[in-house]
Amino acid sequence: MRILVIEDEKDLAGIIKKGLEEEGYVVDTANDGEEGLYMAENFPADVIVLDIMLSVMDGLTMLTKMRKKGIDTPVILLTARDALIDKIKGLDTGADDYLTKPFVFGELLARVRSLIRRKSEVKQAVIRVGDLEINTASHAVKRGAKAITLSAREYMLLEYLAYKKDNVVSRTDIVEHIYNEDSEMDSNVVDVYINYLRNKIDKGFDKKLIHTVRGAGYMLKEE
Ligand code: CA
Repeated sequence: MRILVIEDEKDLAGIIKKGLEEEGYVVDTANDGEEGLYMAENFPADVIVLDIMLSVMDGLTMLTKMRKKGIDTPVILLTARDALIDKIKGLDTGADDYLTKPFVFGELLARVRSLIRRKSEVKQAVIRVGDLEINTASHAVKRGAKAITLSAREYMLLEYLAYKKDNVVSRTDIVEHIYNEDSEMDSNVVDVYINYLRNKIDKGFDKKLIHTVRGAGYMLKEE
């Protein structure tokens, strides 16, 4: 999943980026509202973390313009403590949630997951596909009674397929939501990671859950 962080306090932006990346998210950052708007338009994110107090263009103005352009990416606003009016204005402007600074990082993560679920057809924190269980909070994965160890990238790929279970996910979709621009964009990389996942998820089980849809992409589905 791809997250856009728009925050002009460099230290805080860095901490948020690093923390999200440790969870396996792909993170883009922007330093002001104008750059943020450009990023939101050109690099579609799954969730946007938007500070209200920004230079060049403030967060609420940016949010208003973004919604006017029809960009419906879920937004978490970062507000100053006790700025109740900002929270009210923010929600009325089209934000989906807010978090008061300073916040505990675990709360940001929980709110990000909650917004990802809101946009997905999957509404549970633990996603089940057949006997496969993916805990999106702890990242624990098991199939039947067998615990499965995945690398951060393998996990994110599986989670992405799981949020879109029973739907075909194209290679382009996967590249856009799981990979950074600076990493290998080659769609062969997707095939390589799908193979890694198959070895861990499907190998040794009669029912295969990861399906190749010829000419379209991949699908996680119990058949
Ligand atoms: Ca700020």
